[in-house]
Formats: sequence, structure tokens, C-alpha cells
Amino acid sequence: MKSKLEQIRAKVLSQITDCDTTDRLNEIRVSILGKKGELTDLLKSMKDVQPEERPKVGQMVNEARTEIEKLLEERKAKLEKALREARMKAEVIDVTLPADRRELGHRHPDSIALEEVERIFVGMGYEVVEGPEVERDYYNFEALNIPADHPAKDEQDTFYITGDILLRTQTSGVQVHEMEKGKLPIRMIAPGRVFRSDEVDATHSPCFHQIEGLVIDRHITFADLKGTLAEFARALFGEETKVKFRPHHFPFTEPSAEMDVTCFKCGGKGCRFCKGSGWIEILGCGMVHPHVLEMSGIDPEEYTGFAFGVGLERIALLKYEIDDMRLLYENDIRFLRQF
Ligand SMILES: [Zn+2]
Repeated sequence: MKSKLEQIRAKVLSQITDCDTTDRLNEIRVSILGKKGELTDLLKSMKDVQPEERPKVGQMVNEARTEIEKLLEERKAKLEKALREARMKAEVIDVTLPADRRELGHRHPDSIALEEVERIFVGMGYEVVEGPEVERDYYNFEALNIPADHPAKDEQDTFYITGDILLRTQTSGVQVHEMEKGKLPIRMIAPGRVFRSDEVDATHSPCFHQIEGLVIDRHITFADLKGTLAEFARALFGEETKVKFRPHHFPFTEPSAEMDVTCFKCGGKGCRFCKGSGWIEILGCGMVHPHVLEMSGIDPEEYTGFAFGVGLERIALLKYEIDDMRLLYENDIRFLRQF
């Protein structure tokens, strides 16, 4: 028994000294001190030892165990220190090496188009305002003449935070916020992100951008709307651009219209780009519904106004002749550099 113990002890000591990884060290520990380890086995065979010898043998085994444990710990500490030092050495920074080239980004076509639209309207005396992307149902629908049971609500299915709080489906709610401030006249555009629970395809995305416009003052008529938007179209697509208005329906304007511009590729003769019609649909607009004015505390007998909404992506896609909306969201620098 005693010689067996001595044998194990000698073997382990040399194993520990030769060991050069912490994993191997752990294997040694298990093979000696583990449940089925050699030293544990030895303790189990104590029953073969003479009863009077047992305390002495027991003590020897315990001493050996303590010694082995101590050596294991020391070796482990040493190995870890060496590992740390090697890592420090490997990670040393050579300040004389040339730096990584920093890739510069590129302005997004959406941003370029937005800046242009803002420049045009600011030039006409408009203010650029912002509104919340997380909105109350009231501002997104109710105050825009879209009550709870209105079918227009179905077309704009969105992401609800609670029954009353949602991700806005349109920037039109900013109109209401501005009107509620009670500062008249109003001449504003409100660009921003909007959300719909749409599947992603070449013309749809669950998140896109709109630019809302609102003008409220005394004696504002449909002629002001037409003149303003025609000027906008000329500034954006070129002096030769003509516009036409088709009657349409929006709950918050009356009368309402959609505005087309002459195709800037063919000048209105008809081409592949405008699908042969010579016209391209560009935005929705109309005179602010008296009920909408009233709900926001503006007297429709004294004040009138017009509003319009245009998709920012629509402008960017048209202007830069991009045929797939998804390209705008991938932010591939090779794509963005083209604009
Ligand atoms: Zn055309």
C-alpha cells in the first residue's frame, strides 16, 4: 500500500512538471483525484489494510492528496501566467504600421432627394417640422377624419403598441400637431418615417418615408394648391414639367386629387419609363376638410388650407431611375456611390 502510494505520487509529480496546458492539467487531476481516480481507488482499498495501520495509511494518503493539489494549483497559476504573457506579446500594437483605411460612407438617395425637396419648399417660405413616429390613434386617424370604423384604416394596417398607440402610417398626423399649436398661418412640410405592415417587395416596405405639406391661411384656394405644386414639380423635375390633377378621395381633404407630372424621360410623348402614358403619378393632395380644421380648433369659416403628401422613396426612385425600392434599404455602398 505504502509503495503503491509512493508510486502514484512520483508518477503524478513528473506528469505535473511535464504538463504544458491547463486542459492536460485538468485531465491529470481527474485521473488521480477524480471519482475514479487512482488515489480515490487507493482509499477504497483501505479495507484490506490492518485496522491498526489504517490511521497511519489514511494520513499518508491525505498528505499525498494535499501535496498533489498544491502542485496542481501552482502549475495552473504558472501556465495561466505564461498564457497571459504570450497573449500580451501577440497583441502588442505596432504604431509604425500604416493605419486601416477608413471607408467613407455616401449620402443616401433618400437624403439627397429630401434635401432637394426641403430646399424647394423652404425657398417658398415653408418651415420644416417633425412629429412623433410613435403616435396616438387620434392623431394618425381620428383627427384626420378617419373614425374607428372607416375603411381607410384597413388600407393602412400598421404596428400597434397598444390599442391606442401605434407606429404612424402617414406623416399627416403632424398636420394636426401643428394646427393644435394654434399659431396661424401655417406653411410647413413634415418629412419622416412611416410604417405599414406590408410585405417587402420591389415597391413596398414596412417602413418608408413621406413628406407631408400643409398650408393654412385666410383665402387659400385650390388655385394656390395647384400653383404651389406645379412650381414644386418644375423645380424638382425641370422647367418643362407639366402637371395634371385627377379627382381622388382622401378622408381629410375635400376636394382631393392626385397629381401627375409629365414624364421627364420622354417629355410626355410616352415611353417605357412612363408605361406609354406620358404621365407619372407623384403625389396626393387636396383642400383641408372643414371638419379636420374644426377638430383642431381652427374656424373653417375664417381659414382654409391645402395639404399634400408625397412618398420620398417615390421621388428618389423616379429621379434616379431606380427600379427596385429594396435597393434603397440595403445600404450597399457600391449602390449608394452612384448618386
Ligand atoms: Zn415617358
